[in-house]
Amino acid sequence: MPRDPKQSRILVLDDDAFMLTLLVRMFGQLGYTQVMPCSSGEEALRQIQQPSAAIELILLDINMPGMDGVEFIRQLVACRYTGHVALVSGESSRILESVEKLLRAHHLASLGHLQKPVGLEQLRGLMQQLTSHKGNGATHSAAARCDDPEKLRAAIANGELINHYQPQVTLTTGELVGVESLVRWQHGGDALIYPDRFITLAAEHGLISDLTRAVLAAAMRQAKLWALAGHNLPVAVNVSMDDLTALDFPDVAASLAASAGVDPCMITLEITEGQVMKQLSTALDVISRLRLKRFRLAIDDFGTGHSSLAQLRDLPFDELKVDRSFVHGASADTSLQAICSASLRMAQQLKLHVVAEGVEDQSDWNLLREMGCDVAQGYFIARPMPGEKLLAWIDDWSARRPKASATA
Ligand code: C2E
Ligand code: CA
Ligand code: CA
Repeated sequence: MPRDPKQSRILVLDDDAFMLTLLVRMFGQLGYTQVMPCSSGEEALRQIQQPSAAIELILLDINMPGMDGVEFIRQLVACRYTGHVALVSGESSRILESVEKLLRAHHLASLGHLQKPVGLEQLRGLMQQLTSHKGNGATHSAAARCDDPEKLRAAIANGELINHYQPQVTLTTGELVGVESLVRWQHGGDALIYPDRFITLAAEHGLISDLTRAVLAAAMRQAKLWALAGHNLPVAVNVSMDDLTALDFPDVAASLAASAGVDPCMITLEITEGQVMKQLSTALDVISRLRLKRFRLAIDDFGTGHSSLAQLRDLPFDELKVDRSFVHGASADTSLQAICSASLRMAQQLKLHVVAEGVEDQSDWNLLREMGCDVAQGYFIARPMPGEKLLAWIDDWSARRPKASATA
């Protein structure tokens, strides 16, 4: 039975007694009553390890005397915590981003961060995210189970993987120019498991190519449905290096496109994992044939080290996606801004189409627009959504888009 999300068990960890009181009070104003304040990492760990604790969210201050946030995260991993974590700090967003990366590296479910002083609306936004992340509260147990490759294999075969789609719009006019497909695992009932929790598992157990084929086929079917509804929308799909080492991948992709009735030039393949290519010749073979078949190619997460300049030199990309860690907050951070604008200039010189990921607010939008970036994707425009919700979103966006296009 779905439970009232307001019954979520939340732990707030902050050494500052005033902050603790304030946050508990704010949760109360939002209707959350199961909130446990803790003033030290040790105390929090004791609470979490209680058999009946079932904590679903930890709001973690990363600056604490004694056990700091980073050390606390290490301990959380050791005690196999499976709920969500959101960071709170007065530190610069770059430090928050790096601790967030640490959470992801440990496969902990990160809900992002809140900058101090925390406002009620910020907290409300965070809790809405928790609700959408959790489905109706079942992720807690589901998350613990997604380290089983056999379950994932069955999920792929049984169609439990579903795509959500995130809009991409031009920064000049706000026009919708495409969507990125992002896979989720619909795990029993309402729980949705996010890809950070199973893509690595798929890669480690040779399941990536089945996963990609399922995602690609679903994305193409959806593209066809939108086209029939009058929206001829390009769709981007994430592929991994493993896909690019399967020599038959271009033929499989082309035959999927043919059976869905979709032109390959409407499909962009985003290459996400650019670890040193062990089989460069195979990848070049596959990528060249994908281009010959008129699929578009994007270099994803540009600038993160997963995507290197050498790849840009060697592979025939059409598009460059600036990683979200360089985009959000760039207007207030000169080093992020430098990286963003350098990536943009380089892409422009290479005549690549540029998409900025992680456009989360109006100031990100304004900055990218001033820098002459082509396309934006991020929470400011829309969160990823099920395919059938896109048409309603298009109506909603056309009502608010003039405001978003104005340089405030
Ligand atoms: P990605 O390709 O970089 O995808 C963008 C991720 O950023 C998505 O997370 C999206 O929900 C999130 N995002 C979008 N806008 C914003 C924003 O404004 N702010 C922030 N902080 N985040 C934003 P998601 O869906 O959890 O996907 C995580 C990663 O999993 C993806 O990163 C991609 O690398 C991988 N992935 C997703 N679907 C597939 C797939 O079908 N195949 C493969 N191989 N990998 C996939
Ligand atoms: Ca991507
Ligand atoms: Ca990315």
